[in-house]
Amino acid sequence: MRKPLQSIVVLTGAGISAESGIQTFRAADGLWENHRVDEVATPEGFERNPPLVYEFYNQRRRQILSPEIRPNPAHSALAKFEHDFLGNFVLITQNIDNLHERAGSKKLLHMHGEILKMRCLNSKLVFDIREDLVFETECRCCRSPGNLRPHIVWFGEMPLHMHEINLALKGCDLFVAIGTSGNVYPASGFYQSAKIARAHTVELNLEVTGSGFDEHVYGKASEIVPAFFEGILSSSG
Ligand code: NAD
Repeated sequence: MRKPLQSIVVLTGAGISAESGIQTFRAADGLWENHRVDEVATPEGFERNPPLVYEFYNQRRRQILSPEIRPNPAHSALAKFEHDFLGNFVLITQNIDNLHERAGSKKLLHMHGEILKMRCLNSKLVFDIREDLVFETECRCCRSPGNLRPHIVWFGEMPLHMHEINLALKGCDLFVAIGTSGNVYPASGFYQSAKIARAHTVELNLEVTGSGFDEHVYGKASEIVPAFFEGILSSSG
């Protein structure tokens, strides 16, 4: 008989929020909302053209705050699972949106930052933000303009919470990746770390990504995520 699951790590990507109306990143042609990633998601892009980068994330923020963007059944299923599952559960997201927390997830690691936060370039202090961020926005700690940037991990920068993530991967017996293309390092290698820890690895995605998970479930996140996690709860009694 299979041992009951004690520790589960879930990684989500842009695909889990696609049915909430937020475009994925690589699905079309490597562009993020019609922009090249080196323009809007690298420190060099920010140095070259801060107004463009500020405006890109202002648009993302306005979108997240618009009434038509809501969590979908996949986000809700993960929040319910966190509440009902008796073992350890860690949810890691590559997404910068706030749909997991809006669905009720509590233990959540935003490894690529959050669109509703900004950071001081000097003090590294992080602040909430719901309005537009522009060069003229006065920093709440330095009291001067031009010191703030979106609290987003750009390409070439170190993702957040890596110590906690690595510990969770080392100790898990099930690793599930949902709606991620596996193109962005280091998240793309998490399933291999989980395998080294002898975890069972499962990919839930709309389409084949060519990665080496032990098990694959294909379909829309809003359908396959609730079914998958309800299945775990019913088999663990
Ligand atoms: P990605 O865009 O590279 O890949 C999306 C994956 O989701 C694809 O494999 C696709 O097949 C799958 N998918 C699409 N629709 C789906 C659905 N309805 N159900 C299940 N799967 C579906 O995403 P990524 O791997 O997360 O990398 C993108 C990077 O860009 C991340 O680092 C993230 O920070 C950023 N990003 C974030 C958001 C967001 O916050 N919602 C949106 C776009 C990009």
